[in-house]
Amino acid sequence: MNTECEYIQSRMHEYFDDELDYEMSLRIKKHLEHCSECGEIYEKISKLSNLIKQSFNSSSESISL
Ligand SMILES: [Zn+2]
Repeated sequence: MNTECEYIQSRMHEYFDDELDYEMSLRIKKHLEHCSECGEIYEKISKLSNLIKQSFNSSSESISL
């Protein structure tokens, strides 16, 4: 694993949560376009985050019902 990958992966959660500044998120975005390894990790986080959102949604639905 190279240093850029390590760096990208360490900021991945912040990138996903939209907590990075424009330059930083652009750097990660560009890296993801040509790095399949980091791309896979991004996919995993994305799926996991969707699952979390879904469970949040279903729990808030059951509260409102
Ligand atoms: Zn990478």
